[in-house]
Amino acid sequence: MAETCRSWPHFVAVLGRLGDLDTALPIGSVDFRTHSETSLPVPSSVLLELARRPEVVTAMREFYAEADREIADQGATCWNKGECCRFGQFGHRLYVTSLEIAYYLATGNFPPPVTSDTCPHAIDGKCHARERRPFGCRVFYCDPSAQHWQGPLSERRLAQLKAMHESLRVPYVYVDWMTVVKAMQ
Ligand code: SF4
Repeated sequence: MAETCRSWPHFVAVLGRLGDLDTALPIGSVDFRTHSETSLPVPSSVLLELARRPEVVTAMREFYAEADREIADQGATCWNKGECCRFGQFGHRLYVTSLEIAYYLATGNFPPPVTSDTCPHAIDGKCHARERRPFGCRVFYCDPSAQHWQGPLSERRLAQLKAMHESLRVPYVYVDWMTVVKAMQ
């Protein structure tokens, strides 16, 4: 096992081989495999394999860069400083696809502990996973002036994302973000 895999949490990108995760898992306090495979619609091993495919990571990096540019062109303003990341309190949910989960896994550590119905990356009103946050986090603004472009832009980009699953031969899931981060505890 690579030296970098000897402490928890394990960063997918630094594991020497996918199989190293199995050896590394008992070091942590929670068995990632058991949790993820009972709560996610696809086995964690499939998501980890996806995270290790360079073409998947490149395609998602380009997708986010284009989407970010298009969203920035709308000039929307964030009013609530992270309130929308407190899902239970704000009264909405965030859904993510397999490719978004794969990119998230490929580009950082597993999430911090989940202690409430709030994204564990939301700390002091700021997102601490900004570069790898899902598409829904990038496109959602409660600014009323965003309402006219947000829906059409989301629908178009989500259709693009779905087509990318087909062209990259990636099994498509659309799952609640909190289910994903809880499965990775
Ligand atoms: S990833 Fe960032 S923007 Fe998205 S819900 Fe979590 S803290 Fe909020």
